Amino acid sequence: MTPRKTDYDILVVGGGMVGASLACALRDRQLRIGVIEAVPFGAASQPGYDDRSIALAYGTRRIFETMGLWQPLADHATPIRNIHISDRGRFGITRLDAARERVDALGYVIENRILGALFGAMLAARPDIDLLSPATLAGLQVDREAATVTINDNGAERTVTTLLLVGADGANSAVRRLLDIPARRWDYGQTAIISNVTPGRPHLGTAYERFTDSGPLALLPMTDNRCSLVWTARNEDVDTLMGLGDVEFLDALQQRFGYRLGRFERIGTRHAYPLSLNRVAAHVRSRVALIGNAAHTLHPVAGQGFNLGLRDVAVLAEIVAQTTASGGDPGAQAVLQRYAQWRRGDHQRVIAFTDSLVRIFSNPLPPIAWARNLGLLAVDILPAAKHLLTRHTMGLSGRQTRLARGLRL
Ligand SMILES: Cc1cc2nc3c(=O)[nH]c(=O)nc-3n(C[C@H](O)[C@H](O)[C@H](O)COP(=O)(O)OP(=O)(O)OC[C@H]3O[C@@H](n4cnc5c(N)ncnc54)[C@H](O)[C@@H]3O)c2cc1C
Repeated sequence: MTPRKTDYDILVVGGGMVGASLACALRDRQLRIGVIEAVPFGAASQPGYDDRSIALAYGTRRIFETMGLWQPLADHATPIRNIHISDRGRFGITRLDAARERVDALGYVIENRILGALFGAMLAARPDIDLLSPATLAGLQVDREAATVTINDNGAERTVTTLLLVGADGANSAVRRLLDIPARRWDYGQTAIISNVTPGRPHLGTAYERFTDSGPLALLPMTDNRCSLVWTARNEDVDTLMGLGDVEFLDALQQRFGYRLGRFERIGTRHAYPLSLNRVAAHVRSRVALIGNAAHTLHPVAGQGFNLGLRDVAVLAEIVAQTTASGGDPGAQAVLQRYAQWRRGDHQRVIAFTDSLVRIFSNPLPPIAWARNLGLLAVDILPAAKHLLTRHTMGLSGRQTRLARGLRL
């Protein structure tokens, strides 16, 4: 059946890292793409492109490379050559190593603002992409042939139609709310405090993941020998930690982390992010697909959230590209079902992995602490287990998309 004539083939709500990636992946395919973004690119209040840094898995680099996005990012990305995982005050340690996997890096660390600048410039420059920003999704009606979307554009409302509507509007997705798609939220009772710190010793490309009784603490290698800190604290401790002066905060950090990186010398601005797990009952509805944080919000313990979202992008883009190349309808039910089925296993695996890491490593019961430390040691000395964990961390387990295999859509 010939698709109905609409304003857009694909309309993406949310120009965060995941929504912007989808628009970029589908550029140059003679599709009419719209991106609705509430907060302009470059604005200090942009929630996705803030002061955080992000660990991009090796598999994400491969997807970006095929999309032509890696070249402009490469100079700003710090390679992760090793990952050092430990349990504070106990014996278990595991080390993952890029050389052992015969790759240049297990992943890369990059500042979110750099990603924001790249996406902002790309979306603004493309004749086939309409960047509608600042604008918000205000209403949504779906019938068999199209979705009709009401946009609030600087106080004025207007409607546009699209064959496929993509909800990439984050953890509190309006698309999800307007469609009454239920989401189950589990509050971890933890908050991530992030900042950049400068250690006394060179980080040598090592990422540290240290589990402590109040939550995991990560230090990721960055440019200029800085480290990106993600300190997960209990909610009741956050006000105190955020209220400390820089010297006192670095002392507290030193106590938690130890001296593997020498004495911490400097710290940048601190920000706090309350943490929860969101599981969504359905990832598709008629004419609608959810991707990224709108479809799943994770604890940042293993740095998987965006990497998982980019794999949503790679799958949806592949199916849409295949369908539209032969004149098909990108919002057809068969497209949406294929997307949902393909993504199910990866979502379940990554959610189970991150959630169990948080629960098992926060558990103070001695038998559990023993078991998890034996587990860390076992992974360290058993090559097959280490290889499996490393491939998982690199985002290379499961069925790979064309973009991840270096093949254009
Ligand atoms: C402390 C911390 C550290 C993290 N570290 C890592 C890491 O190392 N590696 C990793 O892979 N992941 C990490 N993550 C997760 C990662 O940040 C998220 O998975 C990712 O940012 C999700 O991107 P998104 O585009 O789906 O959603 P968002 O970034 O939330 O973007 C949603 C966009 O939609 C817009 N929007 C919302 N509502 C509307 C509306 N009604 N109309 C129009 N626009 C709207 C918003 O303005 C926003 O720009 C971390 C998360 C946290 C909290």
